[in-house]
Amino acid sequence: MFDLILRRARLTDERLADIALQDGKIAAVASSVQGAAKSERDLAGRYYVSAGWIDSHVHCYPKSPIYHDDADAIGVATGVTTVVDAGSTGADHIDDFYALTRAASTQVHALINIARTGIVTQNELADMRQIDGDAVQQAVKRLPDFIVGLKARMSSSVVGENGIQPLIKAKAIQKQVGDLPLMVHIGNNPPDLAEIADRLTAGDIITHCYNGKPNRILTPQGELKAAVQKAIARGVKIDVGHGSASFSFEVARAAIAQGILPDTISSDIYCRNRLNGPVHNLAHVMSKFFSVGMTLPQIIDCVTWKAADGLRLARKGRLEVGFDADLTVFSVTEEPRAFVDSEGEQLTGEKHITPLAAVVAGEWFLTEEGKANVFDL
Ligand SMILES: [Zn+2]
Repeated sequence: MFDLILRRARLTDERLADIALQDGKIAAVASSVQGAAKSERDLAGRYYVSAGWIDSHVHCYPKSPIYHDDADAIGVATGVTTVVDAGSTGADHIDDFYALTRAASTQVHALINIARTGIVTQNELADMRQIDGDAVQQAVKRLPDFIVGLKARMSSSVVGENGIQPLIKAKAIQKQVGDLPLMVHIGNNPPDLAEIADRLTAGDIITHCYNGKPNRILTPQGELKAAVQKAIARGVKIDVGHGSASFSFEVARAAIAQGILPDTISSDIYCRNRLNGPVHNLAHVMSKFFSVGMTLPQIIDCVTWKAADGLRLARKGRLEVGFDADLTVFSVTEEPRAFVDSEGEQLTGEKHITPLAAVVAGEWFLTEEGKANVFDL
């Protein structure tokens, strides 16, 4: 007896499938699953189902004075089953962050800020004494499942007079802790993007990859900068990290037209850019990518298996037997909708993605849209 069977779910390749869940795992995926379940829901081919969405860059340490939010408000309430906080906390607060998020229905992981203080102020890397490799190493030992990588914010307002030095330290700490992925935020220089990209190795992640600032990934002529091209060829990943100030339609359009697709689409959400825009939620950010040249399967890949691979979440991101029973149910609606990027550019998108339900370890959570429009389940 299965716990739950979703019948006639539409997959992103448009095939219909039955998906059976048992004991918090995916137990069967087939065009027709035989057998009974404690509960069944027939989607009648009307709604899409993918592996549970993973947002690779959020901020949800509730006590952060600058970037705070509630994990479930940016998670299951919007169809996102796993969120990865990108450096809100460092070694000083990460145990508190861990404890606070155990009550959440959304699965929460963290990239630990290399600065002990995390993002208590905007310039956490301006004082090199805050970067403490031993403290990071001990935190990773205490919370090996929670901490999935490191975070270093390498832009002028964060590093102050220190230029590239915090990144050199971050790469040393990465070796010390056994080679976890390092997510590097890029923004205004110094340091120059080329200087950053040259130091990154396979598995490292550049976030805010389509930001519209002068230190962007494109040259003034609109071509991908050579250092970024080489970094990608070495296996460095690029992540969207939309945020309040880090996503430009113009840059995304030009990069994607050259084949520079994101590895992961993430929101960089926190309460203010959730409530006031331009982020709102992960589905809203994902929907923008229809307008810059991506298809639904490409978009969904960036929040499922590619996100899981990038952050080494080994049991997540795939609709396959044995993987965690994390699913997202959503619809795609073809109607005009206004979108705005972080630079204030507005456009009218032709379709958008609406999250209807999140399933976390087999448990259902309806979104507002799911409750209002679709499911009386
Ligand atoms: Zn961020």
